[in-house]
Amino acid sequence: MRINFKLKLIFSYIFVILISFGFIAFFLDKNLEENSLHDIEASLINQAYLVENQIITENLKKEDVKHLGPLITTLSEKIKCRITVINNLGKVLADSEKPRNEILQMENHLYRPEVRMALTNKVGIDTRYSSTLKIDMLYVALPIRENKEIIGVVRLALPLRSVEKTLSEIRKAVLSGLIFALALAFVLGSVIATQTIRPINRMISISRKFSEGDFSRRILQSSKDEIGELAITLNTMAQGLEDKVKEIKAQNQKLSAIFNSMIEGIIVVDESSRIISVNPTIEKIFSVSRKEVEGKVFLEAIRNNDTYEIINSVLANGESLSAEISLILPVHKTFEINVTPIFDNNTVSGCLIVIHDITEIRRLETVRSDFVANVSHELKTPLTSIKGFVETLLEGALDDKENNRNFLKIIQNHAERLDNLVNDLLSLSHLESKEIMLKKIKFNIRQLVEEVISGFSSQLKKKDIEIKNELSDDISLMADRNRLEQVITNLIDNAIKFNKEKGFIRIYGEKINDKLKITIEDLGSGIPEKDIPRIFERFYRVDKARSRELGGTGLGLSIVKHIVELHGGSVGVESTEGFGSKFWFSLPK
Ligand code: ADP
Repeated sequence: MRINFKLKLIFSYIFVILISFGFIAFFLDKNLEENSLHDIEASLINQAYLVENQIITENLKKEDVKHLGPLITTLSEKIKCRITVINNLGKVLADSEKPRNEILQMENHLYRPEVRMALTNKVGIDTRYSSTLKIDMLYVALPIRENKEIIGVVRLALPLRSVEKTLSEIRKAVLSGLIFALALAFVLGSVIATQTIRPINRMISISRKFSEGDFSRRILQSSKDEIGELAITLNTMAQGLEDKVKEIKAQNQKLSAIFNSMIEGIIVVDESSRIISVNPTIEKIFSVSRKEVEGKVFLEAIRNNDTYEIINSVLANGESLSAEISLILPVHKTFEINVTPIFDNNTVSGCLIVIHDITEIRRLETVRSDFVANVSHELKTPLTSIKGFVETLLEGALDDKENNRNFLKIIQNHAERLDNLVNDLLSLSHLESKEIMLKKIKFNIRQLVEEVISGFSSQLKKKDIEIKNELSDDISLMADRNRLEQVITNLIDNAIKFNKEKGFIRIYGEKINDKLKITIEDLGSGIPEKDIPRIFERFYRVDKARSRELGGTGLGLSIVKHIVELHGGSVGVESTEGFGSKFWFSLPK
């Protein structure tokens, strides 16, 4: 391309020069030839007049060759051309180029065109090849008159060699000029072409960089002509492109950051359900890797028929669809899936699948409805009893002196249960709201346990249970004392309630790493193994009837768990049915 352009430029120079020189040479040659001939003719005519004047007509008439010869020879030497004198009959009387003795043998010149013209009283001119001198000659003839009578002709002849010489010199000059001009055109053409091409080449190489996405360089604007303007335009274009590319990159980065950090799983598929891209959440949900699935048809990559059917329907109808799907992955999970078509020029070119894990939402919904059912049930039982006994009293039992106090006692028990239940529910909801502020203070834990135990003295005495506080005196804790009192109260209450007569309770502490683990051990009924995992759930009780009978609400352990967890600790139980239980909680020191 580069060579082509350079050669093109050089050839166009040469072409223009050749054409102009051709025209110049053609017209110059033609004009010069005509002009020089014309000039020579004119000067010959003038000289012929002068020669004619020198000739004595008398000598001519007498054909005095003796006198005419020397005159003609002298004049010829002076004007440097051949002179011939001819009488009106065509006989040559003198010729500067021939010796006198040969003159009279010369052929008759009457029919020479210039001579014939002169004899008709005109200036005779002719150019022809002279057989005498073997050369192209110019002939000019004039009549010699005496009293208006033409008595002879004087003829001057000049070899045209000089004209030819002049012309050939001019031709040589034109030719050498042409060669010089061509050489100059070549050199200049090369220089100009190289200089013109240099900025273009620079532009080509930088434009190539632009096309590869490298906008770090700019074209130097070296001139103010069209090439300079092109450079400005290319630079402006590059700047525009660079800005656009930057903007698109930034946008892409933002989008991919969103795409990658979304907790929803995202899949983009094309119109043939081939996966274009997936986000990390999808990798987690379906246990696949991005590389593995991208580029594959959906069903081939993710074997979930329900989702595939929804995608197909969206691709076919172009309308968004939502559905709930269940996946039996390592664990059972529920997902809400939204499939939205992607349009390109009014045709569906693919779709966007958003998968949202709603397992936790569904679980919470179940927990809530179970809770409502449980609470209602727990409230209903004492209320029904209270209502029943009040009715019995109103219907006459009030006057039954033996039982009326009993009935009222039962009503009081149920009212107390209701009160306990409502109190527990309130503290639970308060704890669960997480708005609760812990009032942490430093206190001695052994002392707190001691205080709680003293509150249970009548229950302990009633069942004849021995209780041992084995906590050492030097352990202090940084915690909310009132809440912790509730924890210990609930645990000791259970240990008494589910203990046997003449039972035993031990309370002891262990330091494990930076935690303090406190265990309340009893020798009570223990908990069946199957119930252990659920024992801290709200309203979960091993034996509902017994718990109720003992005034339990089924919320005690749940409250314990909440309080301990609020302190950043954990709870647990070890138990063997029939051999007692060890309830423990550990708290950061
Ligand atoms: P409750 O008001 O019934 O005591 P909790 O939440 O405190 O409710 O306890 C839940 C259930 O856990 C009890 O009903 C009982 O079945 C079991 N449980 C709790 N503590 C003990 C224990 N020390 N020994 C045996 N069973 C226990």
